[in-house]
Amino acid sequence: MHYTNAKSILSGKGGYYGMNIYRGCTHGCIYCDSRSKCYQFTHSFEDIEVKQNAPELLEMALKSKRKKCMIGTGSMSDPYMHCEKELQLTRCCLEIILKYGFGVAIQTKSDLILRDIDLLSEINRNTKCVVQITLTTYDDDLCGIIEPNVCNTKRRIEVLEIMQEKGIPTVVWLTPILPFINDTKGNITSILNECVRTGVRGIIDFGMGLTLREGDREYYYAALDRFFPGMKEKYIRQYGNAYELPSPNAKELRGIFQNICKENGLLSTPDECFGFLQEMPDKFTQMSLFDL
Ligand code: SF4
Repeated sequence: MHYTNAKSILSGKGGYYGMNIYRGCTHGCIYCDSRSKCYQFTHSFEDIEVKQNAPELLEMALKSKRKKCMIGTGSMSDPYMHCEKELQLTRCCLEIILKYGFGVAIQTKSDLILRDIDLLSEINRNTKCVVQITLTTYDDDLCGIIEPNVCNTKRRIEVLEIMQEKGIPTVVWLTPILPFINDTKGNITSILNECVRTGVRGIIDFGMGLTLREGDREYYYAALDRFFPGMKEKYIRQYGNAYELPSPNAKELRGIFQNICKENGLLSTPDECFGFLQEMPDKFTQMSLFDL
């Protein structure tokens, strides 16, 4: 772990901003796209870059913005990695989001998010908070292999239940689906049933497959060699060097996904889900004459 002073913290334009407090991640997911070469890490992916001035930068940025909007975090590195337990930078940023009346859409795989449930509830009461949890496999033994350094699926489902009890809306990322590994009818159905039971608002699926590119591919293949002997060769035969690796079962799995989402009124296209994540309720976005 090392510390830096970032120049800015928010990306995007008015209407929706993204924010990453950390760079790199220690959760160890074998398929992680964020470790791809295109992101130009100059240090090891596990050597977390901590943007120590993130709260100050966020406060400066939000203070000067009159139009309230949603702020997303967690897309490139998990805001609830182990180091957050002590550093509490995510928590500080949530306090600032609450103070300035913005909304938050936060994404994680970790139950450490429960530490901040007081703030998340308050933001949700005040404006809007959406918690996004990734679920890829219902099998917790498999989960321990493909997502080794973070809580298992059973615990993440408990997090969804707790959010439901608190009235905080949730979205599940059902991705990636790894060909020949978690791409079974049983797995997808079990996860979807839990999503319905825990009242998630929407589910994000990118076509039941996986993407691989330079950096990410090498790491993934090394993990396949370690845990699934012969699987790497199967991938190379089936997909060569392709960026997109759809599951051979994608069509059937997509059908199950669409049926369950439709029957239960869940948002199910990326457009619908991202619309929900990025949309701030109108009453908070309208500026008064005094703001002009
Ligand atoms: S939690 Fe997300 S960012 Fe962290 S290793 Fe897993 S996929 Fe990558």
